[in-house]
Amino acid sequence: MDKPAILIVEDDRSIRNMIAVTLEAEGYTFYTAENGREALLASTSRQPDIVLLDLGLPDLDGVDVIRKIRSWSEMSIIIVSARSDDRDKVEALDAGADDYITKPFSVEELLARVRAVTRRLDALQRAAKAAEPARQARYVDGELEIDFGARLVRVGGEEVHLTNMEYKLLAVLAENAGKVLTYKYLLRQVWGSAMESDMASLRVFMVSLRKKLAKGGGRQYLQTYVGIGYRLG
Ligand code: CA
Repeated sequence: MDKPAILIVEDDRSIRNMIAVTLEAEGYTFYTAENGREALLASTSRQPDIVLLDLGLPDLDGVDVIRKIRSWSEMSIIIVSARSDDRDKVEALDAGADDYITKPFSVEELLARVRAVTRRLDALQRAAKAAEPARQARYVDGELEIDFGARLVRVGGEEVHLTNMEYKLLAVLAENAGKVLTYKYLLRQVWGSAMESDMASLRVFMVSLRKKLAKGGGRQYLQTYVGIGYRLG
């Protein structure tokens, strides 16, 4: 990622300015907040990547600010606090903070923590990207879910056991979701031939598949077009 945008939450003006000057010199985009309310507002309006959060704020407790941010965002939170008690650290980390710096701190330490959190953010982004193809290898329509990677079919979260032929039929229909597939097309795709004699078995498989997918009296996902073929979705 590019350099992260950082929200500085600190009621002590001299410390706030010191952090701001440091971040500015390093080319970071930053915003400032002087209390908990401003911090919550800025975290939603600015959507920073990292929050540098003082725990001792005039209006709200810093730990409550962490909890509120965590209720809707995974943005990184680094605590910057004079409280050196281990219990305070543990409470802040349990509430969802990612790291902790104790005052007084050096500019080098602050920047090193920001870089460390940035590396973690990068790793998370890469992992999310890598997981994308797997997510696309799924077909979801209402309560019906087909996981092609795991070769699993679920309706309403419950696994539906399909025979090989039923699964192959469903997979072909899902790959062409929204389109009516003719008997001939399905026979070619699944049986590898389009013999008239296979039509009867195709019908039998489809009846069984429709029954399994409509389990529990739910919606029917497979549409029949008499004399033409079938459609999913
Ligand atoms: Ca303070």
